[in-house]
Amino acid sequence: MALIVQKFGGTSVADVDRIRHVAQRVVDTQKAGNDVVVVVSAMAGETDRLVGLTRSFGAEANPREYDVVVSTGEQQTIGLLAMAIQELGVPARSFTGSQVRIHTDEAHARARIASIDTERIRKELARGWVVVVPGFQGIDSEGDITTLGRGGSDTSAVAVAAALGADVCEILTDVAGVFTSDPNVVPNARKLDRISYEEMLEMASLGAKVLQIRSVKFGKRYGIPIHVRSTFSTDEGTWVVPEDEIMESLVVSGVTYNRNEAKVTMFGVPDRPGVATQVFAPISEAGVVIDMIVQNVSTQGLTDITFTVPRGDLEKALPIVRGVADEIGAAGVTQDSSIAKVSVVGLGMRDHAGVAGQMFRALAEEGINIQMISTSEIKISVVIEEKYTELACRTLHDAFGLGLDELATAEP
Ligand code: ASP
Ligand code: MG
Repeated sequence: MALIVQKFGGTSVADVDRIRHVAQRVVDTQKAGNDVVVVVSAMAGETDRLVGLTRSFGAEANPREYDVVVSTGEQQTIGLLAMAIQELGVPARSFTGSQVRIHTDEAHARARIASIDTERIRKELARGWVVVVPGFQGIDSEGDITTLGRGGSDTSAVAVAAALGADVCEILTDVAGVFTSDPNVVPNARKLDRISYEEMLEMASLGAKVLQIRSVKFGKRYGIPIHVRSTFSTDEGTWVVPEDEIMESLVVSGVTYNRNEAKVTMFGVPDRPGVATQVFAPISEAGVVIDMIVQNVSTQGLTDITFTVPRGDLEKALPIVRGVADEIGAAGVTQDSSIAKVSVVGLGMRDHAGVAGQMFRALAEEGINIQMISTSEIKISVVIEEKYTELACRTLHDAFGLGLDELATAEP
């Protein structure tokens, strides 16, 4: 008998019919001889609606009350799902984040999970009940309601699985698994059977939306296998597992893109110690997160610094950057929001030379100019003109053989 945590996302519990479908799935899992803890999101669109309501009182509505309001979406679905399971003749109980003591820090709207008391959950499981708990919500040390940030139910689910030492955390969603690329952009993208936590972390931070990045970190730290699969089919999805369980690693397992960044260049920057802090400290103090940074070799004591920021933060960052440019005597500042970051990710890159060369050649053959490059051990990202996003993804997907029937694997 296994202990399985099943998490259902917003589209899986979007209405009463779907909640009934989810209930059947949970009951089938339990009847197959497993203990089941279910973690649910709010019904699709509900959290957006609740956030909208709080905005009636200003964009910066009181964070404590914001959490009181937006956490209610999950409270609806836990109760409804418990009813639907009971309707099938199986005992089930819902508990709020406070009842099962999902402890978080005090950071309202972006709280981090500190610990979960499993006593109550275990007690109910031992009685043969299905336990249904809400994603996204917790309580702080005062007992006040907190929420984990948008998309946080994935993290709740993996954290619950880790706290219980579950055999698997299933993330049931509206897609069949983790794909080699976004199927909307790359028509021959394929579902991966397995992917390592490391690759999934890179892919999630590079724009693949299937899992919240914090959930992958939890899975990795506690060694919880995460099985991403469809709510609407019983097919196997994608297993996110430790690296040593990947028998044959692909040189490249995924191609991702991100069109949410903008590029800023400060040119003619005096090249002396301390300049980088002068430029970047005020930007990060304003809460703007910088992604890629490139600095040129200086000629005649002057250099250029180019970096990317979230597109939505460009307006906030520009006046700061211009102010700093004046202060340090830089020649000027330019910006470009029509860019995209396209990346290839793969464990096999570690021991295969030439991946970068192959990537750049494939892009060059399509006439796509590379504006910036950044790399990590298992990832290469380039910034290109936004209008080439789809072409670049398809080109790289083909270049690394991801669309073929037999995925090209690296030698073990
Ligand atoms: N309901 C929350 C949201 O929409 C949390 C989640 O679904 O993961 O962001
Ligand atoms: Mg989600």
